[in-house]
Amino acid sequence: MAVSVFSKAPGKVFVWLLAALSLLLSWGAEGSSVDAMPLDGQWKYYDRGEIDPLLTTITSGNVNLMYDDKRWIECSLEDDFEFSPQSNGVILSTRLPKILRLNSPALFFVTRNEAVRVYLDSELLYDGQDFWRNRHVYGNRWHLVDLPDNYMGRQLTFQLYAENQKDLGRLMHVSVDEGMVQMQQIFKHDGFVYVLLPLSLIVIVILMQHYWVNDSHSCVGHPFIIAFILLCMVQAVAGMWSVLLVFDSMFFWYNAFMLSTLLMAVPLQLLACNILAGSACKAVRMMLLVSMLLFVLACADELLDMGLFEAVRVGSYWWSNLGLVVISVFLYRQGRQDAYCRSLFWPIIATAMAGLAIGIAWQYGVVDYQNGFSNLLVLPMLVYVIWLMCHMMAEEKRLSVENQLLEQAVRVEKHKAQVDPLTRSFTRAKLEETMENAVEAAEAGGVSFALLMFDLDKFKSINDNYGHAMGDMVLVSFANIIRHNLDARHTFIRYGGEEFMVICSQYGLEEAWQLAEQVRMDLEHAMILEDRQITCSAGVSCWHTGAEDTVQQLQKRADDALYYAKNNGRNRCIMETELLEKTLLETHPSEAVTK
Ligand code: GH3
Ligand code: MG
Ligand code: MG
Repeated sequence: MAVSVFSKAPGKVFVWLLAALSLLLSWGAEGSSVDAMPLDGQWKYYDRGEIDPLLTTITSGNVNLMYDDKRWIECSLEDDFEFSPQSNGVILSTRLPKILRLNSPALFFVTRNEAVRVYLDSELLYDGQDFWRNRHVYGNRWHLVDLPDNYMGRQLTFQLYAENQKDLGRLMHVSVDEGMVQMQQIFKHDGFVYVLLPLSLIVIVILMQHYWVNDSHSCVGHPFIIAFILLCMVQAVAGMWSVLLVFDSMFFWYNAFMLSTLLMAVPLQLLACNILAGSACKAVRMMLLVSMLLFVLACADELLDMGLFEAVRVGSYWWSNLGLVVISVFLYRQGRQDAYCRSLFWPIIATAMAGLAIGIAWQYGVVDYQNGFSNLLVLPMLVYVIWLMCHMMAEEKRLSVENQLLEQAVRVEKHKAQVDPLTRSFTRAKLEETMENAVEAAEAGGVSFALLMFDLDKFKSINDNYGHAMGDMVLVSFANIIRHNLDARHTFIRYGGEEFMVICSQYGLEEAWQLAEQVRMDLEHAMILEDRQITCSAGVSCWHTGAEDTVQQLQKRADDALYYAKNNGRNRCIMETELLEKTLLETHPSEAVTK
């Protein structure tokens, strides 16, 4: 097994170091993000005062038409606008300063949950969203628009549309400066994400390595963490300012963001599947299936434009929250018996609840958008994920050590059960396994193997006359004599009492008989007891390769041969074929002779 560089779970110091580093970098980036020359002069807004899904007034016509309207209201961008109750569109306008002369001037601004178009005087300068088709625009959007060189002193007009009035007219960081300066602002803003991405990748690599190297089934929730980090990465990339500059595909990133939010519940459900047992696990699996179906439906809608996206999004939102409650109950219930589940319960639930609270707060405008606020929220998440990772790795390490100890204990116990303490030969427990291996090898290689069965003659009388202790000593001596004649091809088994078996791999019948005969003679000549000769009988059988032989038949043939030896004067070795010939002789004397 390959040794992993990361096999040791990173310690707490590493986690906090990482967190501190991210915090430092993100603060550094946020702190320096002073706007380029802001357009904080005089603004005015125009409230149509009614639902106007297409805002037709200025789509075809000239925006200047509106300037005469008495309903233009002077304002500043920091003001809270007061719209008529039904309003969903607004026009905001300011005059660009005359004093600024810039090389490659560019306009930068941020919108939130708003569709936007920008006009310079009455010309359409920029179409920020797919304004007319999809009027549900979520999230903060960053826009960098090239200005013509003769921009100075001209009227800049924003046409904005928002589903939620709270978001209407919210323009942030509106500034005009040189293109390069604007770009620098943007890259500074993304500093946190630039740090987050490689960090996340490192965490994923560590997890993958840990996962593959240990190939352990105890690996609880690593897929969860990987899925979670990947989703966070998609969201982070989708939320990057610079991404929107490199890829001029607002909707791709918008959709990537939306679709990834649809999947946010999935990692939690995956983790729960890994931790929960029994029916709770099955229930969460079903939940996971529904979540995936919702996601597939949302993707299909994006491709086929069936107009279901919003319904799926809201459905998924409720579904994931319902799932969160159900999973919490399951985890809590199982945590009462399961220490591991208990140790993960609070961190998991706390994170999930925090996520839910943030989601609700943003959805209903409880938290105000501030630059960097979302980035700082990612930090505790990251720290938590790393904590979880360390926790799991430590837990897996503990389990793996425990496992190794148990396996060792099982090996020792198995060995004990397979070795006879008196004669040091194998016990019957070893027989089945040995036979299986021998048959397999014989059938694969086409070479047979043999079975010898030994039984001491009149052993009961030795016990009776010399006592059991002496009987034991005879048994040990007999086992030693047998062992003396064996090598690596043989497996020596005490079948029971004073009966022994030898399984001889790659042996023919004659060869096996000679071995049995050698043992028999050695015993005959051994002076185990001073005043009594000890003898044994043996039956020898051989595996019939290619024929339909079975282990039972093989054993029976050896047993029959042994029985025959006992009935015919003892102290002899009989082969299975001898037995066959003798039976034939008894039943059909003429046939046997011709053979
Ligand atoms: P035969 O020639 O027909 O085999 O006669 P036998 O007396 O050997 O008969 P049998 O094989 O049936 O006898 C087995 C005896 O072995 C019975 C039992 O008392 C004795 N025996 C079995 N296990 C042990 C043991 O571990 N130690 C001792 N001392 N005796 C044992
Ligand atoms: Mg016996
Ligand atoms: Mg006997």
